[in-house]
Amino acid sequence: MEKRLTVALVAHDAMKHDLAEWVAWNWEKLLSHRLICTGTTGRIVAETLMERRGKDASNTRFDITMLKSGPLGGDQQLGAMIANNEIDVLVFFWDPMSAQPHDVDVKALLRLATLYNVPTAINRSSADFIISSSLIAQEEYKPVLKDYTSYIQRTVK
Ligand code: PGA
Repeated sequence: MEKRLTVALVAHDAMKHDLAEWVAWNWEKLLSHRLICTGTTGRIVAETLMERRGKDASNTRFDITMLKSGPLGGDQQLGAMIANNEIDVLVFFWDPMSAQPHDVDVKALLRLATLYNVPTAINRSSADFIISSSLIAQEEYKPVLKDYTSYIQRTVK
């Protein structure tokens, strides 16, 4: 049985066009999942999904939550969701050619995605691989989480 996933989508400004194209290409697959986006990315994702679905919206509702805009705290909100195990997949098209005002937040988001072993796509090809993976859609598949008990219980003097 195909699993309903919570998929986070984020793109820096220079990458939003790429993400919109990717969403347009994969819109039918994305409709079956719950989408969480940073603010501006979310607006573009919603517009793209509405455009692709066309006028007949009867069977094609989509579930999208928009957080704050990334530089205004949206990346941190998403990071908190990852720490609470609320995100199954992160698609994050970050811009490799421009400095970001919220660079520390970007780094924190990628760090938490790595720490919590969240399947993460950082460009279109990796996003294609993840969205079309038979593994990710399987009910039984659960990414392994490292046990940090000994770290939590360490003695600190
Ligand atoms: P935005 O944020 O979707 O609100 O533009 C993206 C980001 O983290 O830069």
